Amino acid sequence: MVLDPFTLLVLSATMAAASALYLVAEWSSVRERSLLQWSAGFAIIAVGCVLALLRSSGYALIGIWFSNGLLIAAHGLFLAGVAEFTRARLPRAWWLLALVWLAMLFLPDGPWWSKAMLSIQSLSIALITLRAGLLLRPHGGVLSPGAAQLRFVLLAHGLFYLAKAGSIVVPDAVVSLASFSGVAILVSLLEGVMAIMLLAMSMTGTERHRREELIAQIAARDPLTALDNRRALYLRAPALLERASPASPGALLLIDIDHFKQVNDLHGHDAGDRLLVTLSDLIRGALPHGALAARLGGDEFVILLRGVSGATVQALGQHLREAFAEQARAMFATPEPVSLSIGAALFDRSDLELSHWLKQADEALYASKRKGRDRMELVPLQPELAYMLGLA
Ligand code: GH3
Ligand code: MG
Repeated sequence: MVLDPFTLLVLSATMAAASALYLVAEWSSVRERSLLQWSAGFAIIAVGCVLALLRSSGYALIGIWFSNGLLIAAHGLFLAGVAEFTRARLPRAWWLLALVWLAMLFLPDGPWWSKAMLSIQSLSIALITLRAGLLLRPHGGVLSPGAAQLRFVLLAHGLFYLAKAGSIVVPDAVVSLASFSGVAILVSLLEGVMAIMLLAMSMTGTERHRREELIAQIAARDPLTALDNRRALYLRAPALLERASPASPGALLLIDIDHFKQVNDLHGHDAGDRLLVTLSDLIRGALPHGALAARLGGDEFVILLRGVSGATVQALGQHLREAFAEQARAMFATPEPVSLSIGAALFDRSDLELSHWLKQADEALYASKRKGRDRMELVPLQPELAYMLGLA
């Protein structure tokens, strides 16, 4: 097979049509608008490539002016899709490019026609594509692998078109759009085929990564309180536990609401839910930097702290107990006071797992309940000997 312009255009049309269908199929399950915009962009490229074939039959208006305009419009849709993906607003000034393209209709025929057409088309595409690539910059956070890939492909594609626009000032690089000849055209068509493939792949990857992140977030979160759930706590705790040392001890607080059933029984399940959210808000508000908080289930919550002392843990426990008891009293009347019992364990070694410290805190919590509730029992740091004898 010879890679002549005709073959490359047919190849581009086929790949663009396949990409349009692929992205629409992806949209049917993901329902992200950007996928539709990108798909429409590829559909337009497919049509543009087919129309471009007509130029060798003498249809210059449709085969060159109109098909090149379609290529610009397709890139415009790519930019709109990226703006949708990044939740960015595009200024209306971008529509001016359409006017510039319309003005090209009135360009007099002559030796400069091809150059002017090529430079305006290339510059427009470069501008649109580079803007799309730059929109995908990380805003404070890190770009997902899919978005980083799309950004790279868009920037490379944009820079290629910038170079193409610049190539018209190079002597001997004059291309004839009508006869579709010249090395520049061949290279451009080859780049087009590659760009279609890479853009379509990275566009799907971009949305997939976002969806996967969303699913991972949902899977890690307690739906009622939006705190981490038990699963997420077990995943995230090791990194915090590993940092514990005698110079920087950690602490685990296991919190259980006292007489919570009375709120449910007397005021309804929704009232109980509201109280759980109230407690989670209090915990979130009191959480020091680098700490973890999770709802284990029911009315049981966990806080994992690093770089603390017994005194700071006591102070946090007291603050939570007092603030919660006051809010619960104001929200719901109950025969027994609705308060917090807390079991806490301090630790300064990094070789024991979360379940070990949960068990210690659970025993302390049980002691708090036994001693009359609305209190915190703290297991102090254990001397090495206690561990060796299996007492801790
Ligand atoms: P104690 O003082 O001994 O802790 O007793 P308690 O009344 O707080 O009851 P306990 O901790 O043994 O049980 C927690 C109750 O929380 C049991 C269940 O009916 C209720 N519960 C569990 N999950 C939810 C929830 O998502 N929403 C509501 N409203 N209630 C829940
Ligand atoms: Mg309880």
